[in-house]
Amino acid sequence: MIVAFGLAACSGGGAGSDETTGSGSGDAGDTLVGVAMPTETSERWIADGKAVKEGLEKAGYQVDLQYAADDIPTQQQQIDQMITKGADLLIVASIDGTALANQLQAAADAGIPVIAYDRLIRDTENVDFYVTFDNYNVGVQQATSLLVGLGIKNADGSDGTATGPFNVELFAGSLDDNNAHFFFKGAMDTLQPYIDNGTLVVKSGQTEIEQVATLRWLQETAQKRMEDLLTSTYNDGSKVNAVLSPYDGISRGIITALQNAGYGPGLDAGLPVVTGQDAEIASVKLINDGVQFSTIFKDTRKLAEQSVVAASSFLAGEEPEANDTESYDNGVKVVPSYLLTSDIVYADNIQSLLIDSGYWTEEQVASGQ
Ligand code: BGC
Repeated sequence: MIVAFGLAACSGGGAGSDETTGSGSGDAGDTLVGVAMPTETSERWIADGKAVKEGLEKAGYQVDLQYAADDIPTQQQQIDQMITKGADLLIVASIDGTALANQLQAAADAGIPVIAYDRLIRDTENVDFYVTFDNYNVGVQQATSLLVGLGIKNADGSDGTATGPFNVELFAGSLDDNNAHFFFKGAMDTLQPYIDNGTLVVKSGQTEIEQVATLRWLQETAQKRMEDLLTSTYNDGSKVNAVLSPYDGISRGIITALQNAGYGPGLDAGLPVVTGQDAEIASVKLINDGVQFSTIFKDTRKLAEQSVVAASSFLAGEEPEANDTESYDNGVKVVPSYLLTSDIVYADNIQSLLIDSGYWTEEQVASGQ
């Protein structure tokens, strides 16, 4: 059974986008912070970059903000240039978490502290701090919302009445992104008991992260895999009931494939429960419209703020305050981390989580832009 939620809408502030170089003012005016972001194709990174830049400038630092179009050599080059320009600190959201060892060695040699932003940088001792969300718990929340959508669980955590069996398919993010592994582990630890007792059936048999990963988190790649699953596994009249999706762009690719194959168009007409992440505006609209079932809200404003707090500590010659010193082993060392919490978004809490907090306005939710 699909649990239906009411629609909600009201008013609030908004998120936006920006890039390029800015200049600071105040005491720390000579201090330059390099900020390396992965891509502008996903709006969260645009919002992250803007918020980090604004926060750093408010603290009086100069900022060199760069986006790498999801191209690893471009990101390597951008970081090299930041170091050459005399950056005093680096904040890096990596594309491939294992590809920056040379750059970070150069940073270390020049005495430049490095903060990994959202994504852990792996296989180097030259990363000094990590600001992120509790990524394992994001995966738990994604899987929990899938169980809620099927009626196996209630949103308050109690058991629902539905017993299945339900057909589910699984998607994961990009294997070179450390987060993808944490999301999938959290999700699978939550779903596995239901797979084991037959409530959930992964009809394709594809349950390993290597089988279900989506390189660079691309929507088109996910759409293609969903189309392939439908023709290879569901050509016998059987139906997909739910799809675990780790990111809203991937969710929209999955939904398009399902709708093109005759599902839906909405949850009330048999579209499977599809989860997500990032509360992208196009997906928030789909949730509001009863199409996508859920997403995970990670308040990037808070993450940006935390990165500025950590940067300011380093630049004042102090160690930033960590709230986790055991979860994130990057292969060489455990990186001291500051973890933030996330929330599950359903149609009935868009208002309280996203609109009342000023993340999106009522108009944006209605228009999807
Ligand atoms: C981030 C997610 C995002 C994904 C794709 C991950 O590293 O943590 O918020 O959905 O990358 O951009």
